[in-house]
Amino acid sequence: MQETSAIPGRVALLSIGDELVLGRIEDTNASWLARELQAIGAMPGERRTVGDDRGEIARTMRELATNHRAIVMTGGLGPTLDDLTRESLGDVVDPGAQLLTDPAGAEHLRGWFEKRGRPMPQSNLRQAMRPPSARLLDNPEGTAPGLAAHIGACAVFCLPGPPNEMRPMFARAVAPVLREEGRAVLTAALHTIGLGESVLAEQLGELMQRGREPSVGTTASNGIVTIRIRSSGPSAEARVALAATVAECTARVGSIIYGRDGEALAAAVGRLLSDRGLSLATAESCTGGLLGALVTEVAGSSAWFQGGFVTYANERKVNDLGVRSATIERFGAVSAETAIEMARGCLTATGADIAISTTGIAGPGGASETKPVGTVFVAIAMRDGATYARRFQFPGDRATIRSRTAHLALACARFALLGEPERRLLWSESEVVRVERA
Ligand code: ATP
Ligand code: MG
Repeated sequence: MQETSAIPGRVALLSIGDELVLGRIEDTNASWLARELQAIGAMPGERRTVGDDRGEIARTMRELATNHRAIVMTGGLGPTLDDLTRESLGDVVDPGAQLLTDPAGAEHLRGWFEKRGRPMPQSNLRQAMRPPSARLLDNPEGTAPGLAAHIGACAVFCLPGPPNEMRPMFARAVAPVLREEGRAVLTAALHTIGLGESVLAEQLGELMQRGREPSVGTTASNGIVTIRIRSSGPSAEARVALAATVAECTARVGSIIYGRDGEALAAAVGRLLSDRGLSLATAESCTGGLLGALVTEVAGSSAWFQGGFVTYANERKVNDLGVRSATIERFGAVSAETAIEMARGCLTATGADIAISTTGIAGPGGASETKPVGTVFVAIAMRDGATYARRFQFPGDRATIRSRTAHLALACARFALLGEPERRLLWSESEVVRVERA
């Protein structure tokens, strides 16, 4: 039995242009369209990119038409010779027939140039041409009208390449046709930090089975693993099913979920701090300000973030944070002991309620036998005197290690605030060092 990658109810996206094939521009049209389709309850199917080649464009249209209910194309509608979409469409929908000039389209073009006081180049009239069985779609934003036609039962829409022309045309002429009344594709994202993707997948178990409705999948970045849930069907049912799956996922993975949809990790930490009326400060070595940047990306963070130190040289750790020289000499700048003194010093210097410190080896140099590249210590000091430090071993290059450090440092703060400071975390195998101030 042959498996088809697309099902008849889906909408294919076809982007035209050598610039796209050669990677000179990003195909933002297709990703925008994929999201818009879901918003109107239509499911995106295959997505293809084809260069400015009349035969290849026609072949791809025929192929996609066999297993999709519609095709939305962008690009290649302009007046120049490399714009071949209308010819290809003609080859497919009216083979052997000449393109004809659409009187209303020609009128629109003349008016467009007249309004701007410019003579119309003859080549522009090409844009008013269409295959006999196609109709033009108005383009108030530019000169190139769109085209709509049918390949058998499959509806085809050809839209201009420039996004500022394509988007309004889609909204006006395509979305109303493709909208699946009463149907919805709803999504939810649950962001977690603390577990690796495979461990999380084990906890989610059969919820992640392919073909399940709503579907559950994961994506990972910077130690943040996001559970993505998608529910499609009649609107009311899709909404109920989405909520039920969100609840099931939440029950299985618990407090490692820090936020939903657009919420950033730093914003989630900020919310915990605000709820408790607490403030945060940072003391950074290997992250060099990245942690502070993540925190201050959150609008309104001044309500709970005091500020921070970037103490890169040992001298700064000693002079600005009060780390003892003896501690650095004995244990090294990259050590739990130094991280702890950095965090405590930061707390004292700022009067904050909780301080986060980072110190580590981001590489590529600086490694030793016992401290390879990626060795990082993070400490959390709390106003009540409790201080925790843990060792991480991050894989990756310098940029990755620094970014992962900043994110996992926020995770340490989050779990400390939740009263779970010793929770096992991804990339941190060793025990948490816990120190209580005498
Ligand atoms: P024009 O009349 O401007 O020539 P067109 O419909 O012929 O319009 P193209 O020539 O294929 O479109 O592309 C024109 C411009 O539109 C590109 O240079 C690019 O800036 C933008 N564009 C085209 N396709 C895409 C796409 N898939 N994603 C984002 N931008 C695109
Ligand atoms: Mg063009």
